[in-house]
Amino acid sequence: MALLEVSNLDVRFALRQGEVRALRDVSFTLDRGERLGIVGESGAGKSVAAFTLLNLIAKPGYIAGGSIRFEGIDLARMSSRELRRVRGNRISMIFQDPMMTLNPVLSIGEQMVESLKAHRRISTQEARAIALHKLKQVYIPSPETRLDQYPHELSGGMRQRIIIAIALLLDPDIIVADEPTTALDVTIQAEIMTLLRELCEKHNVGLVLITHDLGVVSQMTQRTLVMYAGRVIEQGPTREIINDAQHPYTQGLLNALPQMTTPGSRLNQIPGSMPSLSNTPSGCAFHPRCQYRYDATGQPRRDCLDQVPEFVTSGNCQVACHMVRDMLAKEAS
Ligand code: SF4
Repeated sequence: MALLEVSNLDVRFALRQGEVRALRDVSFTLDRGERLGIVGESGAGKSVAAFTLLNLIAKPGYIAGGSIRFEGIDLARMSSRELRRVRGNRISMIFQDPMMTLNPVLSIGEQMVESLKAHRRISTQEARAIALHKLKQVYIPSPETRLDQYPHELSGGMRQRIIIAIALLLDPDIIVADEPTTALDVTIQAEIMTLLRELCEKHNVGLVLITHDLGVVSQMTQRTLVMYAGRVIEQGPTREIINDAQHPYTQGLLNALPQMTTPGSRLNQIPGSMPSLSNTPSGCAFHPRCQYRYDATGQPRRDCLDQVPEFVTSGNCQVACHMVRDMLAKEAS
C-alpha cells in the first residue's frame, strides 16, 4: 500500500456566478521517501491539489468527491481535530512565501517551541534543543542567535531555510512544498532546492513538490504529474517525461524551458493561455492551444473538440491525449 493514495479527487468552489471545478478526477500515489513533482502553468490546479492534500481548502471550496488516503485513512473524511494531529506532525507544508508561515511577532525559537509542544509532551528546554538541532540541519549560520531573532531580521533565503527546519520539526512522513523558492533570488533558489532534496533523501521523507518549472522537477523528483485545467494529463517517471514527453502540453512546457532556446532568441512559448476553470473548453481542454488538433485533411478532430481523453499507457507513463492513443493503436496493429 502506498503511503499516500489520492483517488478521483474532485474539488469545487461554490461561487455566486456558479460552481467552479478546480480539480477533476485527480489520482496519484506517493510511496515512503518518494519525491513527486506536480507541474503546470498557473491556473492548472496544482496549488489547489497541494492544499487539498492537507484538507486545507477553505469555503467556498469543498471536496465534492474522491479520497486522500494517508496510511489507508481518508483525510477528506477526518474531523478537524484528527486533521490537526496529521498536519505539521505527519504531513508538513512549505508555502511560497515564508511570511505566510512565520508569525512576525514571535521569535523563531518561540514559534518552533510552540509547534513542538502542540504535538509532543516535552518541556520548553527539550523543545528548544530540538529546534536548535533542526536549525543546524538546514545549515543556518549562528543557529543559537537565530532562535532569538524575529522573521523580519532574517534574509529571504534564511527565512526559507527556517521554514524547512519547521517543516522537519516533527519528523514528518511527507512534505508538501508549494513553489517553495518563488519568492527568492535565483541564486538562492537552487541552494534551497538542493537542501530540500538532500534532507528528504537523508530522512526518507516523501516530497510533493508543486512547481511551474519542469527543469526543477527534473532535478528534484523521481515521478512527475502534469496538470492542465484541473486535470492530470500526463504522469510517469520524471526521467521518461523529460526525455520523451508524449502529451503536446508537456512537450510545450519542455520547449519553453530557457535551456531549450537558442541564446538571444525569444522563448518558445505555448500559444494562448490556460483557460479559466469556470469556462473550461469542451473535449480536451488543451485543444484551443494544441497544434495537433487537426486531422490529415486539416479539419479539427471531432474527438479533441468533444471528448475528454482517457488515459492510455505509453511506456511507463499515462497520457490523456487522443492523438497519442491513435499512435499507440497504430503501432500495436
Ligand atoms: Fe491535442 Fe487532441 Fe491530444 Fe488534446 S487530445 S492534446 S487537442 S491532440
